[in-house]
Amino acid sequence: MSTRAIVGINWGDEGKGRMVDLIAGDYDYVVRYQGGNNAGHTVVNPYGKFVLNLFPSGIFNPGVTNVLGNGMVIDIEHLVHEHQKLEEAGFKVDDSRLLISDRAIICFPFHRLLDELQEDSLGGRKFGSTRRGIAFVYGDKYMKKGIQMGELLLGEAHLRSRIIPLVEEKNLLIEKVYGGQPVDAEEMVQWALNYGGKLKPFIKDTGLILAQAIANGKSVLFEAQLGALRDVEFGIYPYTSSSLPIAAYAPIGAGIPGAKLDSVLGIIKAYSSCVGEGPFTCEMFGEAADQLRQSGAEYGAATGRPRRVGGFDVVASRYGVRVQAATELALTKLDILSPMKQIPVCTAYKYKGELLHDFPFPGILDDCEPVVEYWDGWNCDISGVRTFADLPQAARDYVLKIEQLMSCPVTYISVGAERDAIIRRG
Ligand code: GDP
Repeated sequence: MSTRAIVGINWGDEGKGRMVDLIAGDYDYVVRYQGGNNAGHTVVNPYGKFVLNLFPSGIFNPGVTNVLGNGMVIDIEHLVHEHQKLEEAGFKVDDSRLLISDRAIICFPFHRLLDELQEDSLGGRKFGSTRRGIAFVYGDKYMKKGIQMGELLLGEAHLRSRIIPLVEEKNLLIEKVYGGQPVDAEEMVQWALNYGGKLKPFIKDTGLILAQAIANGKSVLFEAQLGALRDVEFGIYPYTSSSLPIAAYAPIGAGIPGAKLDSVLGIIKAYSSCVGEGPFTCEMFGEAADQLRQSGAEYGAATGRPRRVGGFDVVASRYGVRVQAATELALTKLDILSPMKQIPVCTAYKYKGELLHDFPFPGILDDCEPVVEYWDGWNCDISGVRTFADLPQAARDYVLKIEQLMSCPVTYISVGAERDAIIRRG
């Protein structure tokens, strides 16, 4: 029996999906434990290139059971379409190894609509939401109004009795607060019956299944979405997601709250990127930023939005390693830095003349400036390198310095998006 969590150290988009795809074959179960379809994991493997929003990234590994955990919020229309798209792209999902928690919450079209309306109404104060309804559906969860996946199994009369009052309440918000067009409650019932009907065979008490699996010596890999700095408790609140991407939440969001994590693999990017709004102290601008964005293909997988980019941020990353309680790190996208002769690294923040080495309270981040050092680049193609010893000296030094500053071993280095573009260490 072993358990491992794969989590993001930064602002998300670190390459968690590709790491899950790489090592999922060593596990019996892969469980997504939080979030919804608001972020995308890009996976490039022998089957092709795929963007997964809701499916765990273990689906390409035969023999692995993939679970959408109770901590998730699930847009069932999106999930059905994601399944179809995978099949259209030539990958046959093994339905016998797909499970959805009966306790996960359904994200409805009116959650999406409210997200849109709120974001549009906020103007310059917008959150930078992906407009997928996530904050609104988690809001309903914690207001105890959410509708759980298991309710799809309880029949039409039950669903009607749950959906209609919820829509009536949402319409008050939609019309009276945002001046939007009301939602048709009957349409929402039909939507749930239609998409929910297709998903019924997968809806199970996944907490029980996983608890029994662990008792029988099976291994579980937990997959996070987003990164430490987007965690609602520990991130750059309020510019966070509404869920908990931290590793400590993994057993809870997977339905096995007593499970211990044997290891936490933190995915840490060789430079920084951030999609959406919020303070991003290490942000670079101008031509250097454009070049980094282009060479890193930094455009949101779920939304296509250009991501903000910056040098590696020692302060924020060290904090990410701490709150994730990472026991090892995968340093991703090292190849993207290859064109740079000198590599900018944000080693501290300056706040009112004072040097900060520890990540501060988010409310002061807007007044922090980056302290930037330049480390030597290697300035040659490393995408074909597969052993640490074969990396140029400057690239090895870059990795070793990060390892030392993070006080955590770097056990993987990725040098390309493809599954095998990886260097294993230790
Ligand atoms: P996730 O949400 O953490 O899974 O990350 P995303 O999939 O949103 O973003 C990572 C992006 O970088 C994807 O497009 C990956 O295909 C790509 N990627 C991952 N690792 C590497 C790497 O080592 N090199 C390069 N060039 N691309 C990578």
